[in-house]
Amino acid sequence: MSKLWYPMINQSKCVGCMACYDKCKHGVFTIANDKPKVIHREGCVEGCHGCGNLCPQKAIVYSGDFKRVIKCSCNDD
Ligand code: SF4
Ligand code: SF4
Repeated sequence: MSKLWYPMINQSKCVGCMACYDKCKHGVFTIANDKPKVIHREGCVEGCHGCGNLCPQKAIVYSGDFKRVIKCSCNDD
């Protein structure tokens, strides 16, 4: 099953404060090498920014949060 919405952690920015791990009640994260790691992306709630909003490093982005503008040449004359 594909799932579009889930958090992605920039490990180079993450300082291991665990605010994201402590926030989420859906089993999305585990701890590996003293930092959170996403192991259950299907548990993440569509549109939730709960963990990312708490991150002091702004190290979390969401896979479905990118807005793209796609120019289709089919409309060109
Ligand atoms: S966005 Fe919400 S549901 Fe998803 S991992 Fe973060 S706190 Fe959990
Ligand atoms: S809240 Fe941010 S800095 Fe803290 S553990 Fe999570 S990703 Fe790392």
